[in-house]
Amino acid sequence: GRNNFQFYTSKLNEIATRHVQLESGLKEAIQRNELSLVYQPKFCLKDGSLTGIEALLRWHHTELGPISPVEFIPLAEETGIITQIGHWVINQACQQLAEWNSLGFNGITVAVNLSARQLKADIISTIEVALAVSGLPAQSLELELTESMIMGNPQESVSILSKLKALGLTIAVDDFGTGYSSLSYLKRFPIDTLKIDREFVRDITNDPDDAAITSAIIALAHSLDLNVVAEGVETQEQLNFLAMQGCDQVQGFLLSKPLSAADFLTLLKNQSKPQPIWFDLIWFDLIWGEAYKCHRQNQPIKKAPRSL
Ligand code: C2E
Ligand code: MG
Ligand code: MG
Repeated sequence: GRNNFQFYTSKLNEIATRHVQLESGLKEAIQRNELSLVYQPKFCLKDGSLTGIEALLRWHHTELGPISPVEFIPLAEETGIITQIGHWVINQACQQLAEWNSLGFNGITVAVNLSARQLKADIISTIEVALAVSGLPAQSLELELTESMIMGNPQESVSILSKLKALGLTIAVDDFGTGYSSLSYLKRFPIDTLKIDREFVRDITNDPDDAAITSAIIALAHSLDLNVVAEGVETQEQLNFLAMQGCDQVQGFLLSKPLSAADFLTLLKNQSKPQPIWFDLIWFDLIWGEAYKCHRQNQPIKKAPRSL
């Protein structure tokens, strides 16, 4: 009826207005200092050591408040402004890690997410300059790309990725398992790491299909000599499963949310004390947790949530 129609048009107006607001806002976001990076740690599953961080972009719009990258990255891609924003992200991430290195925190890598539009020849010089200006060794930088980005233009991707690899950095496939491309690209592209998509990890402990897919991805990665990271780990049960399957690294809210630079520095300072409890926790839980459950015969004990 009439009311519905009015509701519909006003909703459409709202969406259109926000779209325009965000689009024009994005153009000024860098100059207005509205962008920042947060850093989500990654840990080695065998010994619990911190292996690296992923830089994740945040935008605080002056009037609209915080905007999720899920909303603004596609807009930035549409308008092409992603090139400048991506450039800013790469430089900021390199500078930040170089600063932590200079404080004595070494041996961790920083991963930056790239957009399809950034995978052009000029990305090579952008990265070379960012490394040179920050003084960060290329080995400390990792690039996260999705399957669909690589497969958009396979010929060009092979050539660009090979040149990037030649600089000494590493390449990870993000959200692995959600694309629909042929697995043969894994052989053709100079890839180092697969990141198992959060969607699979979420249900590994209650959906046998997701558990099977996750184990298969881990086995596939290892047989191709690739490193494998599980993202979106939220529970101890998921962590146990991944440990049992031999996953290399983990990332997720159970271990740490994305942190501001200041909070990550605090974590680094505490981290310098070794954390032997990690290994014990996982394996104790695996061996005794399961044994105890069997003993109780289908009366699984509800484990107290624990912080690591
Ligand atoms: P992504 O690269 O796959 O990043 C992982 C996303 O999952 C992040 O969301 C992170 O906060 C979230 N996450 C991490 N652990 C957990 C968990 O245990 N549970 C749940 N539910 N979520 C978790 P965020 O920061 O909102 O980023 C979303 C996406 O936006 C990223 O997905 C990436 O595709 C894109 N993005 C973020 N920063 C950049 C950037 O600088 N450049 C580009 N091109 N894309 C970016
Ligand atoms: Mg990522
Ligand atoms: Mg991902």
